[in-house]
Amino acid sequence: MEKPIKKIAVMTSGGDSPGMNAAIRSVVRTCAYLEIECVGIYRGYQGMIEGDFAPMDARSVNNIINKGGTILKSARCLEFKTPEGRKTAYDQLRKAGIEGFVVIGGDGSFRGATIFNKEYGFPVIGIPGTIDNDITGTRYTLGFDTALNTVVEAIDKIRDTASSHNRLFFVEVMGRDVGHIALNAGVGAGAEEILIPEENLGLERLLESLKRSKKSGKSSSIVVVAEGDKTGKNVFELKQYVEEHLPIYDVRVSVLGHMQRGGTPSAFDRVLASRMGVRAVEALLEGKTNLMVGIIDNEIVLTPIEEAIKGHTSIDRELIRVSDIMTV
Ligand code: ADP
Repeated sequence: MEKPIKKIAVMTSGGDSPGMNAAIRSVVRTCAYLEIECVGIYRGYQGMIEGDFAPMDARSVNNIINKGGTILKSARCLEFKTPEGRKTAYDQLRKAGIEGFVVIGGDGSFRGATIFNKEYGFPVIGIPGTIDNDITGTRYTLGFDTALNTVVEAIDKIRDTASSHNRLFFVEVMGRDVGHIALNAGVGAGAEEILIPEENLGLERLLESLKRSKKSGKSSSIVVVAEGDKTGKNVFELKQYVEEHLPIYDVRVSVLGHMQRGGTPSAFDRVLASRMGVRAVEALLEGKTNLMVGIIDNEIVLTPIEEAIKGHTSIDRELIRVSDIMTV
């Protein structure tokens, strides 16, 4: 039977996340398995506009399932936000005989993909790759699990030095708008308090909790702070505030920063990437478009990209409760 699509492209766009390479590998191998051509687009939409393409066969993705970052590179591209930029991108795709693409990225990348799809009717499927876990239509985004493990491991190490010196540490983790990493890593690493953007737990409560900790005999404490926490103070101002109000504490700050985005993807992220890549290619061949692949109740599902970028992921309130109980 004649295949509806004979050549597709795959790209990574926006902020990188661990597991992107495993997803590229999965898309490329699925194409090889289904005997359709696959092209890699370098540097996201920038490479699309410039026609920076390379054919990819099954062997071109050897030994990348365990690598962080993305072999196709990622970029932010302002030109793609203009109709002229998207027209150039479309011309490049047509010239190369590409009939659909899989974009692995975050909500910005999906916004670009859906606009492009509307303008040109070009088939697109998204795979959510971001450590923030802030996309609806999937319980987990690619890279979240790895980032969580990285943060927990880092906090474990910080705790060693905190307890040796009887110190209080504020550890800042990524999450400008969402506190999924902070909340999960905080529970996983046994933090005394967790400050997240979704909730203003208040400075008073923080002081009370720290006083209680001291009284109950804790010699050291870890407070996990998401970048976008609602106290209105950044992590250094928080240190100052606590030192002023609770001089018994010797406070230190550790900002984990970009290390959270790197590293070998966890087994969970590799399996998820492999499953998502297969479904993305299959969806294109089924004539589906403008959809994002996600995982819900351990089933791989498709959600309209527009819904995925519109929605708001909500914080797991049960985890807040568990954290409160654990810091008795
Ligand atoms: P992420 O995908 O990680 O959220 P960005 O928000 O930086 O990262 O988006 C990645 C790229 O997607 C941008 O550099 C741009 O090329 C494209 N993009 C984002 N928003 C739009 C938009 N509204 N219209 C067209 N392209 C967009």
